[in-house]
Parts: sequence; C-alpha cells; structure tokens
Amino acid sequence: MSESLPFYLPQGNECGLFELAWRHHLPLLLKGPTGCGKTRFVAHMAAKLGRSLFTVSCHDDLTAADLTGRYLLKGGDTVWADGPLTSAVRTGGICYLDEVVEARKDVTVVLHPLTDDRRILPLERTGEMLSAPPEFMLVASYNPGYQNVLKQLKPSTRQRFVAIEFDFPAPDLERKVVAEESGLEEGRVQPLILLAQRLRALKGLDLEEGVSTRLLVYCATLLQAGLGIREAVQVTMIEPLSDDPEVKAGLEEVAKAIF
Ligand code: ADP
Repeated sequence: MSESLPFYLPQGNECGLFELAWRHHLPLLLKGPTGCGKTRFVAHMAAKLGRSLFTVSCHDDLTAADLTGRYLLKGGDTVWADGPLTSAVRTGGICYLDEVVEARKDVTVVLHPLTDDRRILPLERTGEMLSAPPEFMLVASYNPGYQNVLKQLKPSTRQRFVAIEFDFPAPDLERKVVAEESGLEEGRVQPLILLAQRLRALKGLDLEEGVSTRLLVYCATLLQAGLGIREAVQVTMIEPLSDDPEVKAGLEEVAKAIF
C-alpha cells in the first residue's frame, strides 16, 4: 500500500495525532491558511490507514442534503443516492469537510450527533438511523485567517473536535516539499523559499493571505519546465496574491531584491 501513499512531509507530530484520534473515534479539526498541506495530509493519512476518503469542498450553498444524500429521479423511479458523508459512514471511511465554516448552518446540525459519543447519522428522508462503525472518522478544516464575524465556527461545534493548528512548513521542510513536488533541485528552490518568507512577512499590511506552499510548487514546476525566473515569479507569487497595482508593485520590488 505504501507505494500509493501520497507524499507528505510531517511538520510535527500531526501523523501520530491523526492516528490516535482515528483509533479512539475522535473527530479532528485542522486549522490553517490555504495551501499549507492540510488536504494532502488527510489524503496521506487516509491511505496510510487504508480508509476510503470522501472529500467535500464546502461553500455557502452547501446544504445538509448535499452531505447526506437525496432522492433522484431515474427513468421514472425515485431512487435514494447517498451523499459523501453517508457513504463514509456506511463504509467506515474518512469524510473530509474542507473549509467547513463556508457551509450553511443546517450542516452543523447533521454533524453534531456524529461528533459526540452517539456517532449516529439520522437520515430523515429515508427514516434510517446509521451508526458509524469504529473505522469512520470526520475531519474538517478551516482557515482562521479568512474569518469574519459572520463566519465563525460556533463554540458548540468546534468544541466537538480535537484541533491541530497548521502553518506553512518551516523553510528547510518547505524546500524539501517544493523540490519533491516539482522535481526542481533544492538549490534552485532555496531562493523561492526566501522570497516566500519575505512576502509572508507583508501579510496583514497589504495582503490578506501570504504566498502558499501550493504557489511555491507551481513556481518551481514552471521553472523546472524551463520558464524564466522573473516570469515564473510574476505569475505564481505576485499575480495570484493581489489585483491592486500598488500592492503588486510593492511585491515586485521585494522579488527584484532577490532575483
Ligand atoms: P490546503 O489543503 O492546506 O489548502 P494542500 O494540502 O492542497 O493545502 O497543499 C497544497 C500543496 O502543497 C500540495 O498539493 C502539496 O504539493 C504541497 N504541500 C504542502 N505541504 C506539504 C507537505 N507537508 N508535504 C507534502 N506536500 C505538501
């Protein structure tokens, strides 16, 4: 199985914590900025534990029925179709709700009985009451940086989860991650890491969010494919961060000091 294990370089003890939470039937909340490795971490752990992974990217139109399931019309008949959460419960899989704060309020109602010691999923529409098998696990993530007052996880919800804080990997780790993901040698990745550090230091001043590990991987991938450094930096580490000409000019200044 390890051959198909998605590559993940741990930042700390998160792999051990995940496994412990899974073994003891505890739901897990991953907090951290976008593109720092949360989704990859869950994919890695699901494969390591031999569980199927059901990932849902939450958005503000996502309803409880999108997770649990609905009746669909098929050739004149109505047939029940499980949603991803129900499938994970039925098969003892791992359900990962990415950016859970984005989902509509009725979603939390479904999650509550699943995230305490009852571990049940009531399906009102079919009249079923599913009990989650020991292998089932609920994992959710959210980005505290994006939050506004209207979009916060209520304490009654967040206090049902074991929570781990994520951040961008430390420079040495991030260099290894970016090199591994892009195929670019570590020596050429190093200045990108330095630039990312400097751009991240601007977060809050002009930028809502610092450059992500994901964008660094994009940049290194383009460099490895032969694109020039200036252009690669422009399209992966400047344009995606801001639309404001003044802010972009500021970022370009920072980049010019390195390249
Ligand atoms: P998130 O879910 O936090 O938004 P992802 O898990 O999608 O972020 O990470 C974005 C990319 O960054 C991944 O596709 C992977 O290439 C890379 N990455 C970040 N951290 C790691 C890590 N620790 N090990 C391996 N890859 C990582």
